[in-house]
Amino acid sequence: MSSRRDFLKTSAGVGVGAAVGLGSAQPLRGAPAVRKSVVVPVSVASGNGLEAVETAVRNVTQGGDTLDAVVEGVNIVERDPGDASVGFGGLPNLDGVVQLDSSVMHGPRRGAGAVACIEGIKTPSSVARDVMRYTDHVLLVGEGAQRFALSMGYQLEDLLTERSRRRWIDWRATMSDRDDYLTLEETGHAAPGSSRQEDYGLGILDSHDGVRPQGTINCNVINSDGDLSGVTTTSGLAWKVPGRVGDSPIVGAGLYVDNDVGACGSTGRGEAVIKTCGSHSVVELMRAGMSPTDACLEALRRIVTFTVEPRLRNAEGRPSFNVNYYAINKNGEYGGAAIYAGGRYAVCRDGETGHEDLAYLFERRG
Ligand code: ASP
Repeated sequence: MSSRRDFLKTSAGVGVGAAVGLGSAQPLRGAPAVRKSVVVPVSVASGNGLEAVETAVRNVTQGGDTLDAVVEGVNIVERDPGDASVGFGGLPNLDGVVQLDSSVMHGPRRGAGAVACIEGIKTPSSVARDVMRYTDHVLLVGEGAQRFALSMGYQLEDLLTERSRRRWIDWRATMSDRDDYLTLEETGHAAPGSSRQEDYGLGILDSHDGVRPQGTINCNVINSDGDLSGVTTTSGLAWKVPGRVGDSPIVGAGLYVDNDVGACGSTGRGEAVIKTCGSHSVVELMRAGMSPTDACLEALRRIVTFTVEPRLRNAEGRPSFNVNYYAINKNGEYGGAAIYAGGRYAVCRDGETGHEDLAYLFERRG
C-alpha cells in the first residue's frame, strides 16, 4: 500500500491552464487539442474516498477495467457500516428506511447505468453497473431496481445499523413539540452524562443546510491510455421524503463522463446540481478549454446564480448549502472545488494517496 500523506499544495494550483483533448471535435479558440500519448493514472474522489482512489489506481495500473476499478473502490465505502453517508449504515429517510441512489459511466464504451431509491442492497453502484451491462435501460428505480438486483443474485439485507437507527430515532423525537415522540431527556430515561449529541461516527458527513447530515462518494479514474470512468453512490439526504431522488443517480447531474474530454462527479445538495446539470456542465466547460478546477468553479457559480429561493440563501444572499465537484480531464489533470472553503478531496496519483484542498468560491458560510 502506498504511503498516505497530506498534499500541501492546493488543488487550485493543479491543472491550471491545462489543455484538453477534444477527440474528433474541432478545437475551440484557446483550447488547443493537446492530448498526451501516455497519461499517469489518477483517481479523485470525495473526502471519504481515500481507499477508493487507492483501489481504483491500483486496479487500472494492473490493467483492470476503469469502471470495475472505481466500483471496487466505492464498494469498500458502501459496505462500511461506519460511513453513514453511503450504502450499509447510510442514514434513512423520514420513515426510517434506507433508500440508495447510484450511477456509473464507462468512458470507452459510452455506457451508463443507474439505480434510484433502491432498498435493501448494500452496493447500489454494482447494481447500477449491472443495469448498464445486462439491460437496454439506463435507470431503474425503487421496487423494480430491487427486483432486478435480486434477479442478479444480490442479497436482501437490513441496511439500518443500530447507530443509524438511533440517530433517526433522535431526529424523530426532536422534529416537533406537538407529537408523541420524546427524547430520553424528556422522559427522564437518559443515562447520567449521556447526550443526544453522542458520537455517531458521522464526522465525514457534510450538512448542506446546517442541520441535516448528508454525504456521498463520487470516484473517477483515468488509466494510462486516457480512458475514463466514474461512479457516484449515496444514501442521499438524511430524513428525506420517501421517494426523493438526488443528483447521484442522474446522469449529467451527479456524474458525467465523456471519454474524449473528462469525468466529473458531485457531492452536496443534489437539488442544486440537478437544476444546473452540474457534472455535465463541468465536462462541457473542460471541453471548451477550462482546467478541471476552473470548470468546477464555473459550474458552482451557475448554482449560485440559480439559487434564488430565500429559504436557500443566507444573510449575504449566498447559498445556505454546499456543493462539491471532482473532475479529471483527458490529459490526467485533475481538480475539485466547492462553494465554501474548507473541503478536501481524495487523490491517488503516482503512488501517492492523500487529501488535497478543494478550490472554492467563498471563504465561509455567512
Ligand atoms: N448529493 C447527495 C444527494 O443530494 C447528497 C450528498 O452528497 O451529500 O442525494
